Amino acid sequence: MNNFISSRAFEVKPNEISTSRYWLKPTIEKVEPLAERNFGISKCVEAARELFPQDVIYNWIECPKETRIKLAEDFSFYVADAFELDNFKGLYIEDTGFGCAGYNNGDGKIHVSEMLVNDKNETPFELIDTIVHEMRHQYQSECMCGLHPIDNSVLKEWLAADNLYTNDSPYALDPWGYKYNALELDARYAGETVIREFTKDYRA
Ligand SMILES: [Zn+2]
Repeated sequence: MNNFISSRAFEVKPNEISTSRYWLKPTIEKVEPLAERNFGISKCVEAARELFPQDVIYNWIECPKETRIKLAEDFSFYVADAFELDNFKGLYIEDTGFGCAGYNNGDGKIHVSEMLVNDKNETPFELIDTIVHEMRHQYQSECMCGLHPIDNSVLKEWLAADNLYTNDSPYALDPWGYKYNALELDARYAGETVIREFTKDYRA
């Protein structure tokens, strides 16, 4: 599960959004190969670059909903290939409930909030981040079922984290249940590393 950082996505905002102040021009550089913990991430970055070029990012607000959905679906196939998923069963863009950007139960279905394609205040980066995050959870599940070779210490860590996993709160009582569960740390790392590497192109 990938919580929104806050409920800001659901706040009513004015329709007019300034699009000029923050845009930078990309300087595309080679995607560097990353270490084992980063399995699949370079391929995800390459897919993001291919499907979400500068004009798509800059014109996201005007981009028709059907096009946003198509981009999300196309990207999910690239990510499935990057993580070499065996049981990918498609991207489901739907109402995932208040404050939930997406979830995956390890059954191959990747659920992503419709808010990420409907809400004009969202960015393609959050969509990319969420798809990678939830698909990383699918990868973790497949690793824990023995479908992919993985470093034994990582496997042990994930199996232990899977045992402790819970959405109960407050987190103060159980920080490793969800908030700092190793599976969440890994999924957040995957999604946010893709964004970090992808947005390097745009840094001044
Ligand atoms: Zn998660």
